[in-house]
Amino acid sequence: MCGVFGIIEKEGNAASKIYMALTQLQHRAHDSAGITTYDQINQAYHVHKDMGEVAAVFSEDTLLSLHGSCGVGHVRWTTEGDINVENAHPIPGIFHGKLFYIVHNGEIKPEKEYDGFYYSDANTDTKFIAALISNAPATSFEDALQYACSCLKGTYALIILFENKLYAIRDHTGNRPLVLGSNAHSLMVASETAAFRPLRGKYLREIERGEIVVIESDPLRFSSFKIAQYPVNTPLRLQFCLFEMIYLLRPDSIFLGRTVELVRERMGMKLFEEHLLDADMVIGIPDSAEAAAFGYAFRSGIPLRKGILRSHYAGRMFIEPVVKRAQKLLIKLSVIEEIVRGKRIVVVDDSIVEGGTAKKIVKLLREAGAKVIYFLSGSPPITHPCFYGVPTARKHRRLIAEDHQSNIDEIRREIEADYLGYLSLDSTIRAVTETPPFISDYPLLAPEDFCVACFTGQYSIPFHSTA
Ligand code: SF4
Ligand code: MG
Repeated sequence: MCGVFGIIEKEGNAASKIYMALTQLQHRAHDSAGITTYDQINQAYHVHKDMGEVAAVFSEDTLLSLHGSCGVGHVRWTTEGDINVENAHPIPGIFHGKLFYIVHNGEIKPEKEYDGFYYSDANTDTKFIAALISNAPATSFEDALQYACSCLKGTYALIILFENKLYAIRDHTGNRPLVLGSNAHSLMVASETAAFRPLRGKYLREIERGEIVVIESDPLRFSSFKIAQYPVNTPLRLQFCLFEMIYLLRPDSIFLGRTVELVRERMGMKLFEEHLLDADMVIGIPDSAEAAAFGYAFRSGIPLRKGILRSHYAGRMFIEPVVKRAQKLLIKLSVIEEIVRGKRIVVVDDSIVEGGTAKKIVKLLREAGAKVIYFLSGSPPITHPCFYGVPTARKHRRLIAEDHQSNIDEIRREIEADYLGYLSLDSTIRAVTETPPFISDYPLLAPEDFCVACFTGQYSIPFHSTA
């Protein structure tokens, strides 16, 4: 999974704005970060990318050297290809002798027929997209994009910098988020509206599924056209990633017309409707489950307490390789003994993936003297891997619910809780659809508008050609 951002300004240094925006997308990815700008005066690109987090990758001097008033930026959480600087975005391509740069969130598994054609040199899916555009049988860049989109199976939210224009593209399923914003001096596009905040950017609208938005600087404006043709068997309806709403999006972001925090609060309220427990307090695992814990406490009347504290200097544990996680958790979370001792506690987490975190938290609470531990997940059991760009469940990662074939009592015994409950899929989806939209004219959502493959194993978006 990744975070993408692009901006075109009337004038000024785009790199500093991209940097600020990327810091707001850091929760989406930590592997590498990169920025490419285009300097219209000297007709030259400037690129800097490296491994690590945004603040470590860019110095003030670096940002000042990235001239130009338009550009794209990226934070990468690897789902395809090796984790190295060569695969960090932006990824270059060449169309009719002219460079362009892509940033991508999503996952494409190239079709077999392309294996020897383009993909042999392209060891990431984004390089494959760049190669498709570069080699498109097209005279205009727009036609090359159309050609690439007619070939791509999988998921993509793309921003492409082609000299002083930006192209923002969202695939026909809209699985990955991509949103348009503006301030007085610029137009911008990002994975999440959170990226607009330091730039005082306003939400304009989502990039629609199957849409290509072109952003230009002189005059500052955007226009849009539709992807004309899709590969066969692609579902032509929204398949938005439900896990974005559960965990990935920042709580203050607006997506599907809704503020994410309020959706998660509602997940917590529904959790109480499905799991009526008698307890002394509710504790949310910080930070991602705090909204659901609030919702549970609000609906149940059981007090919400801060019994677990999170250190904000330990990185985002979910992203770390498995081997480091046991120690990481102890650095990251600490239990406030005086609050939990002798108490019956409802512990709410957003989800349970491998189960290691849940088990450790139960253990920490017991060591601190908690009397009864009810463990609740604000989403259904994750039973299947994601092939659409979210490494919740990669091949090398264990899924506790898959191992126990969703036998709740077996999972409960493994994490050593006194009670274990999950939010049903139906309620998880309804928490989204029933949250009143912040954007009042946002179209109605149906349960079929969500990708739920990691909860059901029903992969509605083809991710690899079987031809
Ligand atoms: Fe999101 Fe799960 Fe679908 Fe992947 S499989 S896109 S994580 S809902
Ligand atoms: Mg968590």
